[in-house]
Amino acid sequence: MRRKLAAGNWKMNGLSAALTEIDGMQEAADGASEVLLCPPATLVAQAAQRAGEAIAVGGQDCHAQASGAHTGDVSADMLRDAGAAYVILGHSERRTDHDERDEDVRDKCRAAWEAGLTVVLCCGESLAEREAQNTLDIIGGQLAGSIPDGATGHNLVVAYEPIWAIGTGKVPTTDEIGEVHDFMRARLERRFGEGVGRSVRLLYGGSVKPGNAAEIFAVSNVDGALVGGASLKAADFVPIIEALN
Ligand code: PGA
Repeated sequence: MRRKLAAGNWKMNGLSAALTEIDGMQEAADGASEVLLCPPATLVAQAAQRAGEAIAVGGQDCHAQASGAHTGDVSADMLRDAGAAYVILGHSERRTDHDERDEDVRDKCRAAWEAGLTVVLCCGESLAEREAQNTLDIIGGQLAGSIPDGATGHNLVVAYEPIWAIGTGKVPTTDEIGEVHDFMRARLERRFGEGVGRSVRLLYGGSVKPGNAAEIFAVSNVDGALVGGASLKAADFVPIIEALN
């Protein structure tokens, strides 16, 4: 049985005053699903303290090395030390803004596992790739290239985030989401064996809102969501968590 996961990605949003939103999420987070918040690195420690037991906290990126001369970077150990249990890796905004390639994401994934973090590994196609009917090839390539050997149902979550759906209000059809999620499940089973492949949770991300969450959660092999904009406020995130519970 895969435990459903509602994950919030605050991206580069949130000053310390925003942490009060966590209080409004606590009650919903006591339900059956797991709730994860990934605030900016500056807020990870405070968020982890405030969140307590019911809400897990994660980073949005980590360096591939454990420590060293890398000005401005944050290591997986540092996130863990600040109270994080998760880290998002390979988000399309990092692949674009920081030229992260699959092999960079794979190295970061290894570092995260070394530090004991669970990775939320992001993949997704561009609009041009979808229109050229290359979606499954792109996703297959990203999964093969970004995930190191050694994945388990505990250390890995995969998020399918079509780039054209992020922050745009556009969402694939439920058939399109189901096709990609079934494909990802099959690929994970083929590479890591049925037991592991079946235990990795698969999230959908890209313009998930209170109004479309239930429909998306009903799709086969969707085990939850990675939510950007609608995770910033308890008033938006709580109904999404409740749709999953
Ligand atoms: P969005 O972002 O929910 O604001 O579309 C999702 C994400 O990028 O993780």
